[in-house]
Amino acid sequence: MKAIHQKQEHTKSYYAATVNEVTNYPMLEGSLSVDVCVVGAGFTGVATALTLAERGFSVALVEANRVGWGASGRNGGQLINGISGLSKIQKKYGDGIADMLWDLRWRGNDIIHERVAKYGIDCDLKKGFIETALKPRQVADLEDYAAEMEKHRHPHPWELWDKEKTQQLLGTDAYIGGFVSYRDGHLHPLNLCIGEARAASGLGVQIFEQSPVTGIEHGPRPRVRTASGQVEADSVVLAGNAYHLLEPRHLSNLTFPAGSYIIGTEPLSDEMVAEINPLDLAVCDLNEVVDYYRLSADKRMLYGGRCNYSGREPTSIKAAILPRMLQIYPQLKDVRIDFEWGGMIGIVLNRIPALGRINGNVYYCQGYSGHGVNATHIMGELTADAIGGTMEKFDLFANMKHFRIPGSQWMGNQIIALGMLYFRLKDML
Ligand SMILES: Cc1cc2nc3c(=O)[nH]c(=O)nc-3n(C[C@H](O)[C@H](O)[C@H](O)COP(=O)(O)OP(=O)(O)OC[C@H]3O[C@@H](n4cnc5c(N)ncnc54)[C@H](O)[C@@H]3O)c2cc1C
Repeated sequence: MKAIHQKQEHTKSYYAATVNEVTNYPMLEGSLSVDVCVVGAGFTGVATALTLAERGFSVALVEANRVGWGASGRNGGQLINGISGLSKIQKKYGDGIADMLWDLRWRGNDIIHERVAKYGIDCDLKKGFIETALKPRQVADLEDYAAEMEKHRHPHPWELWDKEKTQQLLGTDAYIGGFVSYRDGHLHPLNLCIGEARAASGLGVQIFEQSPVTGIEHGPRPRVRTASGQVEADSVVLAGNAYHLLEPRHLSNLTFPAGSYIIGTEPLSDEMVAEINPLDLAVCDLNEVVDYYRLSADKRMLYGGRCNYSGREPTSIKAAILPRMLQIYPQLKDVRIDFEWGGMIGIVLNRIPALGRINGNVYYCQGYSGHGVNATHIMGELTADAIGGTMEKFDLFANMKHFRIPGSQWMGNQIIALGMLYFRLKDML
């Protein structure tokens, strides 16, 4: 992994090329005193800062690179309900909290829709997401999910598609069924992140870019230090996810980085769009090692997949991802590839987001295991609740036991790579 202390601009993604606003917040210089200092301006940090500002806290948001520089500005843009590991939480606390957890899994989607409307954020937000089955056991999983939706009388439209309908409306014979949810969807993640940061700034949040945090001095009012400044606060929130190495005594090997990669084609013709995705759905298959894709606002295919645990970018992202896209869509074989990029996902071994507190006033919130656009917004709200004194939901996560693999945060770990191979083999069965 590249050292975080080298300040960097955005990676050359489709998103960076189509951003609404090139941010240029100042570097942190000198001393500052606020209620809360948030470290890292991805969705976790920005969502937490914005929620706190809406509730009247004074907030400083300190980012090593640029707002949305990490996974939040590079991801597949799939807005999907759920938080990984929720079933384990339900198992620990019992069925009494099942309804609360069901509502919680949609909360991030709702926050995003509310904020896009409230702050006028232009981020190509669309409704419609399909999970696709490649194998009969995955069709059974979709049927179970449909039963769950019925049990909860889910008040938003959803559909279970058979093989014929899925193949017809996705223009591929790869799938044998699908589940469409119109409460989920897709968006331009970098524009969302920057738009939320702009809203936070409008509410008084002091945002600093190009300001890597080098350490935290603990105490009743901890101090967050950068090379040229410091912020003193009642509470600190660490939101650097897979990209930060702060507080190693407490956090090392809790979350480890895994790479995920995306290619972006040239804009597709209207005929091609009508053939492969006329309903403009975000698509994600049900394999353990997922392929995910969607059309951008200008009708490019953004196709992503392939995790690695080495922390190293493949020599050619296009060479790694293109064959996977052509396996599903051979009709795209002559289409030009205009973009290729990747980013780091924070993986937690038991898949439950790692939330907690160090010394009572330094909160951390990381590790969504590749499923974070929605989850970051939920966790931002839970962390803001906790800082305001309402700990119940935060503690549901904070009290879960996590396992650590020594060395996994720092280097590609052979054990993790082996685990990945196991999941690939499972996908083949
Ligand atoms: C290629 C890819 C595709 C994905 N696709 C999807 C998808 O379609 N749907 C979905 O739900 N999820 C997806 N994810 C996962 C999702 O993007 C993440 O779960 C989510 O963005 C995590 O947000 P975050 O704010 O916690 O972390 P990040 O967005 O990584 O932000 C962390 C920030 O902290 C900053 N930072 C780190 N250390 C320091 C420091 N010392 N000082 C100051 N700042 C620091 C970094 O510069 C960075 O900006 C994908 C991820 C990747 C990489």
